[in-house]
Amino acid sequence: MEKTLSIVKPDGVKKNIIGEVVARFEKAGLKVIGIKMISLTRAGAEGFYAVHRERPFFASLTEFMSSGPVVVMALKGNGAIKKVRDIMGATDPKKADAGTIRKDFADSIEANIVHGSDAPETAAVEISYFFNALETF
Ligand code: AMP
Repeated sequence: MEKTLSIVKPDGVKKNIIGEVVARFEKAGLKVIGIKMISLTRAGAEGFYAVHRERPFFASLTEFMSSGPVVVMALKGNGAIKKVRDIMGATDPKKADAGTIRKDFADSIEANIVHGSDAPETAAVEISYFFNALETF
């Protein structure tokens, strides 16, 4: 059993597709083990995306991620990390496969609706960024 962290980003919340995103994960057999809506401060978004601090899109990305509420969720299942990434589609919606969340809903490489952890180590760090030991299991 693997765990991963997903976020419905501010554009996904504004587009009213929180349920659509969660439903796609659940239909793939993933179990939601923690979920909440929060508003990230700029500093909170900068902390989450610290690995991208030197990238040219860092300022814009952290502004976007703190522009409105997000829904963070911890998910559990066999191959959860890859499953979530397959369901999301490529970072750039123009390159995403048909039937993926980003192909169906995303406007741009930045405003791409959803986040998913890329490896077990980052998943553990990202889950503990948003959930304490009492909030997930
Ligand atoms: P990742 O760590 O791969 O999830 O990337 C973080 C997020 O940064 C992506 O999901 C996009 O929202 C954003 N991003 C990645 N690459 C670019 C880019 N070239 N231009 C703008 N935003 C980007």
